[in-house]
Amino acid sequence: MATLAIVGGGAAGMLASVFAARRGLEVHLYEKNEKTGKKLYITGKGRCNLTNACSMEDLLESVKSNPKFLYSAFYGFTNQDAMDFFEKEGLELKVERGGRVFPVSDRSADVLDTLRRSMKKAGVHIHLHSEVKKLRQEPDGSFVLEFSEGAKKEADAVFVATGGVSYTSTGSTGDGYRFAEDFGMKIVYPCPSLVPFNVREEFVKELQGLSLKNVSIQIADGRKVLYEDFGEMLFTHFGVSGPLILTASSVCARKLKEKELKLTLDLKPALSEEQLDARILREFENNRNRQFKNVLPSFFPAKLVPVMQKLSGISADKKIHEITKEERFRFLRLMKGLEMTVTGLRGYNEAIITKGGVSVREINPSTMESKKVPGLFFIGEVLDLDAVTGGFNLQIAWSTAYAAANAVKM
Ligand SMILES: Cc1cc2nc3c(=O)[nH]c(=O)nc-3n(C[C@H](O)[C@H](O)[C@H](O)COP(=O)(O)OP(=O)(O)OC[C@H]3O[C@@H](n4cnc5c(N)ncnc54)[C@H](O)[C@@H]3O)c2cc1C
Repeated sequence: MATLAIVGGGAAGMLASVFAARRGLEVHLYEKNEKTGKKLYITGKGRCNLTNACSMEDLLESVKSNPKFLYSAFYGFTNQDAMDFFEKEGLELKVERGGRVFPVSDRSADVLDTLRRSMKKAGVHIHLHSEVKKLRQEPDGSFVLEFSEGAKKEADAVFVATGGVSYTSTGSTGDGYRFAEDFGMKIVYPCPSLVPFNVREEFVKELQGLSLKNVSIQIADGRKVLYEDFGEMLFTHFGVSGPLILTASSVCARKLKEKELKLTLDLKPALSEEQLDARILREFENNRNRQFKNVLPSFFPAKLVPVMQKLSGISADKKIHEITKEERFRFLRLMKGLEMTVTGLRGYNEAIITKGGVSVREINPSTMESKKVPGLFFIGEVLDLDAVTGGFNLQIAWSTAYAAANAVKM
């Protein structure tokens, strides 16, 4: 029987092994860790947001690098197919806010158990503690895998499912990029994504732990607006994080590698400048004889009060009726546009995914097979594909895995 070797027992490798084995292939999955799916275990804060129950249009829209490449794979194995697979295998699912799909148990371990059970049922041969060091092709088209402890194994086809380079402690250390390069394939320079930002201004440290809901941000490179959206963000000891920022990083990551960008935060996006001024005036009118610092809490959460006071340039003890019109406008503009300098990205160990990877120009989009090396397939995050948060990155892993498993000829 012809053998298929899968290098990497993460989300993509595990699912691919099930579908390939169900087709009757002899499938050997090689995982360098002591267990499969270490990264999958930490996904969705331990709950595993395994896909998104959105329309195909939104699925494609969520992909930030090379969405067109995924057209065929997404239609071949849709988000509904992913949900059906897990439900048929006995995992109950639920859909939360924003279409995010989780196991009803809220335990990523149950997603992992389901995959492990399916692999066993399908007859996949799982080899743990098996780190592939080198991959080469013989003149007859078959492959030889060389392992770190010196062993060699042969295979008729190989799936490289080694992931990206984020959270390297889970085993994803970019080995697949090296394998691809050894075959003369092009790698799109990797960079962390879905990652927090470092900010220069010292005041962010005072705001550490503050989470802001219903704010809007704009990120600009000079006059060019790169990203604009509304939602939730978080201040940290180094800068900013939270859903809005992580999504922004998937658009701005590459630019931030080259230069600093400006982040403008609108604390009152629901109000126009005129409406906000009317609100400030009303508050000021009702508190004419109080000090500025005592009126500020009616506008902001406690942590923001001293920061906004300092940035406004209005003395904390100043009586409200002494505040000039100019000062009031300055305060208003600060609320509508608190500026920060984004100096860079946090590192791979805080990045949910890696942007970049094996160039999709080298890959057949219907099969995930290398155009240069017949029999060599790349699936999951090792490819130059990435999406925003919401279950979309795992859907990329599932869909590309299925495409390869369904296409591999033996
Ligand atoms: C903290 C965190 C939370 C996340 N949450 C979500 C979420 O909720 N929803 C979502 O959609 N996405 C989420 N992601 C992203 C998602 O986990 C990844 O996109 C996905 O796991 C990629 O799957 P993969 O199989 O391509 O790679 P991985 O899951 O990284 O698996 C690669 C596997 O290959 C093995 N390997 C590597 N090199 C070798 C080698 N040389 N020999 C043998 N084995 C090797 C590794 O040990 C690893 O097990 C999250 C990521 C992180 C870091």
